[in-house]
Amino acid sequence: MRHVIVGNGVAGVTAGQAIKQASPAAEVHIFGAEPYPYYRRPLLWEFIAGQIEQDDLYFRPADWYAEQGIQLHLGAQVSSLDAADIGRASADIGRASVAHRLALADGSRVEYDRLLLATGGRPFVPPCEGTDKKGVFTLRTLEDALAIKAYAQTVSTAIVIGGGLLGLETARALHTAGLDVTVVEFFPYLLPRQLDPEGAEVLQALLEAQGVQVITDAATEAILGDVYADCIRLKDSRIVEGEMVLFSTGIRSEVELAQAAGLDVNRGIVVDEHLRARRGNGQPTEDVFAAGDAAEFEGRVYGIIPPSIEQARVAAANMVTPGSATYDGTLPSTTLKVAGAELTSLGESVVEDGATELRHVDRAAGHYRKLVLRDGRLVGAILLNDKQRVRPITQLIDRGVDVSEHAKRLLDDDFDLKSLL
Ligand SMILES: Cc1cc2nc3c(=O)[nH]c(=O)nc-3n(C[C@H](O)[C@H](O)[C@H](O)COP(=O)(O)OP(=O)(O)OC[C@H]3O[C@@H](n4cnc5c(N)ncnc54)[C@H](O)[C@@H]3O)c2cc1C
Repeated sequence: MRHVIVGNGVAGVTAGQAIKQASPAAEVHIFGAEPYPYYRRPLLWEFIAGQIEQDDLYFRPADWYAEQGIQLHLGAQVSSLDAADIGRASADIGRASVAHRLALADGSRVEYDRLLLATGGRPFVPPCEGTDKKGVFTLRTLEDALAIKAYAQTVSTAIVIGGGLLGLETARALHTAGLDVTVVEFFPYLLPRQLDPEGAEVLQALLEAQGVQVITDAATEAILGDVYADCIRLKDSRIVEGEMVLFSTGIRSEVELAQAAGLDVNRGIVVDEHLRARRGNGQPTEDVFAAGDAAEFEGRVYGIIPPSIEQARVAAANMVTPGSATYDGTLPSTTLKVAGAELTSLGESVVEDGATELRHVDRAAGHYRKLVLRDGRLVGAILLNDKQRVRPITQLIDRGVDVSEHAKRLLDDDFDLKSLL
C-alpha cells in the first residue's frame, strides 16, 4: 500500500512515522515544498535571536527518514491532485478503475493508495499600504527566518504588528538580537485570544520592564519609506519608527490544492472524526485525509503543534486501518515564555455564555491566575508565572471533575488542587 503525504511539517512527519510503525511494509512518501528536512518552527525564534545555529533547528539526524523507511522528496511542490476519485460518490470508487494521482510542479506524476494533506498554513497579512517595501517580513519558514536574521543585522529598530503569541515571541527574539522593538496591537490589550485585559496588563508591564515597547488599540494603516520601510502610520495618524516591520497577524490554512481538487474547504480542509477530507458535496472521501494547520475540525483550525500531532496520529491510523481511530478535538493549551514569565492558557480561557470566572491578580509579583468554570467544572484557565498549577488544572479540565464545592478556595495559594483528582 502506497501512502503519500503532502507536507513535511510536524503533521506530515508524525503521520509518516506512525504509518511505518503500524505497517512496516507500507510504502511511505513525503513530499515537501521546502528544501529542508523537518525543522521545529518554534526554534526559529532562537535562531533569529542568535542563540542557536541553523543546524540546531533540525529535529532529527539527516538519515532519520531513510532509517524509518520513509522516502523523502524535498523541494517537491505538489501542484495538483487528480480530482477524478474525489468528485465521485464513494460507492463508485473501484481502486482498479480510478486514478489516485497527484502531479508535481516538475510535471511528474505520483500514484497513491492513501493521501494525507498536511500542507500547513501561511501567514496572513491584513490589507495595508506599503507591504511591498523592503524590510517588511512575515515569519513562517526557515527561509523567512534567514531573511529576517540577515536584515536585522543591518538595522537597529523593528516593529512587530500583532501582539498575539507568535508576535510577542518574535518581538522577544528581535530584542535579544539587539534591536529596539515596538509591538503594535490592534486590540486594546495583548494576547487577545488568550488573555483578558487584567492578565494582559500584568504581561505588558513585564515586557516593558524588559525593554519591549507596546502600543495597543492601534490599527496599522500604512508602512512608510521610499524603497525601504522606515516607520508605520496608524489610523489615528500616529507614526511609529521602525526600520523593519514584521507582520504577525495570523495564518490561513494552505488549502489551494484541496480546493482545486473539489474537496470541501471552509477555513481549512474540512475533516471528519477519522480525519477524512470531504468532497464538495459533504460526503467523506475514502482515501484522502488532512491534518495539522491545513485541517478544519468542527469549525476550528487550531494552528498549533499539539493538535497537529494528535490529528496526524489519528489520520495515520485510519490510513492504515480505515475507521480504527477517532479524533474528538484537542484541549488547546499554549505556554509562552516571555520576558522571564511563563504564561499558560488552557481550554476556554475567555468567558462566554454560561461560564463563570475566578481571578487572582498580583501585579507587583507579576502573578495572574484565572479559572473558568461551567456547570461546576473547570473548562479553562490562564496562569501567569504559576507553573506548578498547570498540570493539576489540565487534569481537572480533562477529567471534568466537579469542583463546585471548593470553588471559593480553588485560587488560594495553600489549596492543594491535586486533592481533587
Ligand atoms: C515561528 C513560529 C513559532 C511557532 N511556535 C509554536 C509553539 O511554540 N507552539 C505551538 O504549538 N505552535 C507553534 N507554531 C505553530 C506551529 O508551527 C504549527 O502549528 C505547525 O507547524 C503546524 O504543522 P503542519 O505540519 O500542519 O504545517 P507546517 O509546519 O506549516 O508544514 C506544512 C508543510 O507543507 C508544505 N507544503 C504546503 N503545500 C505544499 C505542496 N503543495 N506541496 C509540497 N509541500 C507543501 C509547506 O512547505 C510546509 O513545509 C509556531 C509557528 C511559527 C511560524
